[in-house]
Amino acid sequence: MTGCHAMILNLVVPCYNEEDVLPETTKRLAGLLDRMVQSGSVSSQSGIYYIDDGSRDRTWEIVSGLRAARPDRVHGIKLSRNCGHQAALLAGLRTVPGDILISVDADLQDDIEVIPSMVEEFTLGNDIVYGVRSGRKSDTFFKRHTARGYYRLLSTLGVNIVLDHADFRLMSRRALTALERYPEVNIFLRAMVPLLGFKTTSVYYDRSPRFAGVSKYPLGRMISLALDGITSFSMRPLRLIAYAGGAMSLLSFLIGAWALYVVLFTHRGVPGWASIVVPIAFVGGLQLASLGVIGEYIGKIYMEVKRRPLFEIEEID
Ligand code: UDP
Ligand code: MG
Repeated sequence: MTGCHAMILNLVVPCYNEEDVLPETTKRLAGLLDRMVQSGSVSSQSGIYYIDDGSRDRTWEIVSGLRAARPDRVHGIKLSRNCGHQAALLAGLRTVPGDILISVDADLQDDIEVIPSMVEEFTLGNDIVYGVRSGRKSDTFFKRHTARGYYRLLSTLGVNIVLDHADFRLMSRRALTALERYPEVNIFLRAMVPLLGFKTTSVYYDRSPRFAGVSKYPLGRMISLALDGITSFSMRPLRLIAYAGGAMSLLSFLIGAWALYVVLFTHRGVPGWASIVVPIAFVGGLQLASLGVIGEYIGKIYMEVKRRPLFEIEEID
């Protein structure tokens, strides 16, 4: 097989200050692609697209150098400033051509040896293939436990994401076209992709430590990504206010009834007491309930302004 009719696979690799890893990463990724082209599973036009996310180091020069050495495999897209991992990824997913794209981090912490199985799953009819880490041995105790707790919180809030999957995934052209219909700007791709639907599966791998360079995800960034994951996908925090308002209103009614009972039927009533306690409980309940109502409307407005598609047609017979 010459591979000329095979599908084009492009790898989307966001890079922020990755000068230390790019030469080795290119060696490994290009080697993998060369092998896959050889075996005929992907087209010889398959390649690597580095998305330089406004790096301050020599990342872009290095990409250019690598491109000069392997013009058939290496491509670069330079963003005008640092836009963050998710935006850089989306920039790649929206601009890189090809029949299938696989996004993978520049540090190759995700095992690229499962890429052929991802492609295999695509040929079996899957439009989305998630890379899922089978263990978190390479993580710190802190990261392991916060990550698990966070996934659990997300699913209680009704946000559907794949456990232990980050942004190592294959998407077909069809899925990418569907993703373009999501014009929202608060992006958290690992929760958006499951909304697309289509036939989906996972492949499993062990995640290794970074082979060079340092993490570009300090704690602050991780927390802000985690909050985005909740507030971009779930109205439930707003609804919780409405529930709390309802509960407080009920409570204030009970307190009011009790205060009236104490004043009217016992001798324990201190003058002025009921007229203070009842309005406090009543107004508190009223305020929370009103905030809850406003929250419901804000939630609706939020969902409307996202302009998310209501459906995606998979086939018409
Ligand atoms: N990254 C990016 N823009 C940023 C931060 C990170 O494109 O503002 C890229 C980074 O170069 C890497 C990927 O996102 O390819 C994941 O970052 P990192 O490996 O530092 O995160 P960690 O694995 O520590 O969570
Ligand atoms: Mg990493």
